[in-house]
Amino acid sequence: MCCKVILFYSILLYGIMFEHTVNTFLMKSNFMGKTIIISNRLPVKIAIKEGNYSFQPSEGGLATGLGSIYKNGNSVWLGWPGLFVDNEQQKKGIDKKLAELNLYPVYLTNEEISQYYEGFSNEIIWPVFHYMATYARYENAYWEYYNIVNKKFCDAFLKIYQPGDVVWIHDYHLMLLPKLIRTAQPLASIGFFQHIPFPSFELFRLLPWRSELLEGLLGADLIGFHTYDDARHFLGASSHILSLKSSLNTVLYDDRKVVVESFPMGIDDKKFSGLTNDLEVRRNIEGLKTTYKDLRLILTIDRLDYSKGILQRLQAFDLLLENRHDWREKVSLYMIVVPSRDSVTMYKELRNEIDKLVGNINARHRTNTWTPINYFYRSYPVEMLSALYQFADVCLVTPMRDGMNLVCKEFVASRINNDGVLILSEMAGAAKELIDSIIVNPNNTVEISHAMLTALNMPAEEQQRRMKRMKELVSKYNVHQWVAAFMNRLNEIEKPKQLEVSKYLNFFTGQYIRNRYVRAKKRLILLDYDGTLVNFSIDINAVSPDKELLDILQDLVDDEKNKVVIISGRQHTTMEAWFGKMDLDMVAEHGVWYKPSGGKWQEKNSV
Ligand code: UDP
Repeated sequence: MCCKVILFYSILLYGIMFEHTVNTFLMKSNFMGKTIIISNRLPVKIAIKEGNYSFQPSEGGLATGLGSIYKNGNSVWLGWPGLFVDNEQQKKGIDKKLAELNLYPVYLTNEEISQYYEGFSNEIIWPVFHYMATYARYENAYWEYYNIVNKKFCDAFLKIYQPGDVVWIHDYHLMLLPKLIRTAQPLASIGFFQHIPFPSFELFRLLPWRSELLEGLLGADLIGFHTYDDARHFLGASSHILSLKSSLNTVLYDDRKVVVESFPMGIDDKKFSGLTNDLEVRRNIEGLKTTYKDLRLILTIDRLDYSKGILQRLQAFDLLLENRHDWREKVSLYMIVVPSRDSVTMYKELRNEIDKLVGNINARHRTNTWTPINYFYRSYPVEMLSALYQFADVCLVTPMRDGMNLVCKEFVASRINNDGVLILSEMAGAAKELIDSIIVNPNNTVEISHAMLTALNMPAEEQQRRMKRMKELVSKYNVHQWVAAFMNRLNEIEKPKQLEVSKYLNFFTGQYIRNRYVRAKKRLILLDYDGTLVNFSIDINAVSPDKELLDILQDLVDDEKNKVVIISGRQHTTMEAWFGKMDLDMVAEHGVWYKPSGGKWQEKNSV
């Protein structure tokens, strides 16, 4: 308590006089509070059955990537719980259950879900950012709701934010949020990470609200992307659209430096390598061995999305079966498509096309004992995914565009014997790292079908050589390293930023402090010495008070309404030499020595 009083008065006094003192104080202090993760969706799915709630982990890269991390640290997570609730009683029940998991819900109305989430996020941002701009529907109503919901997130955030907290905002649903938070809390430490690609300027400029979106993001201190190209595109857009100056990875915006860097996201590789010993996983593998006896298996796993290149991949497999009859009854495609956004027309149509194409290929090639494509439209628990990752011979990941793609990394982490082959689209962020995969152009169905043959025929030693290198990489740059790299960088940026606190203190509180000071009839001014009155130095002999400081102290002492106390860890003899002639109280050697103004030094035991 005593310390808090001292620090408060030190800050208060600073507002009037000493700029450098608070700067140094803030530099020294560890102001870190909790981390507030904010994303569109919470990392759990809620189901309500007969009045009871059940929680299940959400699918998707972000949920699986950060889901295990946030539980370990001093973190809370703010997001939409993924269902519409209009009953206040029900909301209370859900709030309580979620709070036990450090999760805070932002409830959205049906209108908001349809316009902000399905509309603006998934029908405008998603297609443009995935280079499929012709799919975008630029509806003004979507934009209005995008603003409303970002504001709603900001309001919910402000209820749980405390100074010192660090904010980590995720993804394209919340691009206006960094600026909204910056306006409400100018000193907040704000990181933003984008999980989808950031398109080149020529694509980004198509958006009617391109300036507002850029400015929204620039409210952050640190903006992260999966790849260097994404970061470069963002800097290019800032310079072309907002005429902002940038040097290397830093943009100057609104008198602030915003750092833009790449942080390729990793996975929890230990979780996947550890699952190889799981009993249920082993049972699933036995089941697969029985069903797919004597067959080579090519595995593909995606959410339902046109950016994932599912149709092209099917066409490539069809080509393989057409051109190489010798592979019939020897290889099957095991294809999982996880239902996603299937209320959006485009996605419904895509699903119908996939259904038709799978039916067509199977009808043309199947035999009484062999089904070429085993297609599952559902999601699977990780025990089944792990079994498939271990059992398959080849993993085929061919998105048209993908921020990172985690499935390919999960496949690599699951191959304990270093066998198996990964075929990977050059348009996935992961292709920048997993260069030992067979890299393909996802639009080139001939190339993909050749890559499947190459993979199926690849000698064991070559498989081992490639897989070993990829596994080392996936293990080294795992999700823990990703979180640490982003948070450390944000922390690094925060330090010099604290030097600028002076500006805000003067601006926001300077006048207030001045008024209170002038009106006060009696003032107790407690001043720490090193780091507060003078720059902090580890050299105890350094930084004696200069004339300017002594003059200011003398002015304070001369005001009869003031009682001034200097508190220091320094020796009482030093304090005496410096301030002995002044009419002020002194506490030295961490409270062991005390001298009242006009009195004598007394040791603690004798006081
Ligand atoms: N996934 C899952 N259940 C499934 C299929 C996939 O939990 O039935 C997970 C998978 O393990 C991976 C994530 O969904 O972690 C997909 O992430 P990715 O980055 O590959 O694609 P996204 O869906 O984020 O675009």
